[in-house]
Amino acid sequence: MKFDFDLFVIGAGSGGVRAARLSARFGARVAIAEERYLGGTCVNVGCIPKKLFVYASHFGEDFADARGFGWEAATAEFHWPRLLTNKNREIGRLHGVYARLLRDSGAQLIDGRAQLVDPHTVVVGEKRRTAERILVATGGWPRVPEFPGHEHAITSNEVFQLPDLPRRAVVVGGGYIAVEFAGILHGLGVHTTQLYRGDLFLRGFDHECRTFLAAEVRKRGVDLRFNSEVVSISKTGAYLRMLLADGTALETDLVLYATGRGPNTSALGLEAAGVRTRPGGAIEVNESLQTSVPHIYAIGDVTDRIKLTPVATAEGTVLARSLFGGQPSGVDYRGIPSCIFSQPNFAMVGLTEEAARKNGNGISVFRSSFTPLKQTLGGRSEKTLMKLIVDKATDRVLGAHMVGPDAGEIIQGIAVAMKAGATKAMFDATIGIHPTAAEEFVTMRMPDK
Ligand code: NDP
Repeated sequence: MKFDFDLFVIGAGSGGVRAARLSARFGARVAIAEERYLGGTCVNVGCIPKKLFVYASHFGEDFADARGFGWEAATAEFHWPRLLTNKNREIGRLHGVYARLLRDSGAQLIDGRAQLVDPHTVVVGEKRRTAERILVATGGWPRVPEFPGHEHAITSNEVFQLPDLPRRAVVVGGGYIAVEFAGILHGLGVHTTQLYRGDLFLRGFDHECRTFLAAEVRKRGVDLRFNSEVVSISKTGAYLRMLLADGTALETDLVLYATGRGPNTSALGLEAAGVRTRPGGAIEVNESLQTSVPHIYAIGDVTDRIKLTPVATAEGTVLARSLFGGQPSGVDYRGIPSCIFSQPNFAMVGLTEEAARKNGNGISVFRSSFTPLKQTLGGRSEKTLMKLIVDKATDRVLGAHMVGPDAGEIIQGIAVAMKAGATKAMFDATIGIHPTAAEEFVTMRMPDK
């Protein structure tokens, strides 16, 4: 045979593992190299441990709410080391699952850092291996801007293994990770400040929902500050001192920077193989996920497009099917739902109200804002907001947005309806499940605008 492998995958994160397993199941000879941890960001320092932390951080509120339902809870005491141990055990279990899935598929797992040395050759350690096709699925890495004292800040990579929970923390950024971690830390009892450089966090999401979420987050007690830029961080004894552009200073025990993630492409040998990257290092791909070298492919965060695990796995699936399964297809990037696991959740699919208007769609906006039933006895002041954006001409639902408990669970189903082209009339013809928050999506009768 001309090559050692039919496919060599670099990076065993969500996308790489999916592509490797499926390709091997189709009969391809597959190798997959991983230098750090099986499962990549999602399993180790992302989605999974983050969601476990979100669950952990909710209990304080749950204990408080329980009083209204007649319960007298014991004094709540939180043990961070126990949470870390249990979380690490679960991740260890997932490593085992990933390793077994790869083994059972017939793909060969190679431990070590892979580097391209020419368009068909990959080196791991001392060993050179050739492959007919190569897939780069090396993911991304947190990005911290350079400024005096930036080295005192940690990122989402470190926050999952903090030896102690700080008393005070400052989270910098206004994207998914910053909003999620401000909620987690606050929920675990840390006095939390979140700083965002712009007027309103979560740029690009539905404006009304962003404003609504900001109010809910502040109500819970996070010190959320907009138009706040960090000038420097210095270490003073046991704590950190942050200087902000408006001249104010902040004293804290931990600074978490969540200011975006960049593609993991340095020292990968992309130049040696002739693979073109964009400024910033992201790998350019066409709609068949081919790089500038047609037999080298890239999927997931390393392409710096839609940085979501299910997108990377969808790309891995489509690639394996196209290359080895005789089922050529493409990824449908329209209508990708997502959820920010803030407290409360903020989930969405389709167009925001602003984007729909900008597109020139004549739209009707249906909305419902209410106190969740649980809070009638729980007693906390919490509101839920739900919105549907409907095209006036076709009656198609263009966007659905929700800020409230379990928004991610609810929007997933709405995304299916929207994929099927559901109209508002179809939503109206659907009978609700009572009493749920989700039923509001099928009982919105009058548009607001
Ligand atoms: P995001 O790109 O979502 O947000 C980055 C934030 O940092 C923005 O608010 C941005 O502000 C701000 N920022 C960027 N540069 C600077 C700077 N130099 N100084 C101050 N602020 C800055 O990145 P995250 O790190 O939150 O997450 C990375 C990606 O991971 C996300 O885009 C998402 O795709 C994915 N993710 C998904 C999750 C989910 O599905 N639940 C959870 C976590 C991550 P501005 O808006 O002004 O540019």
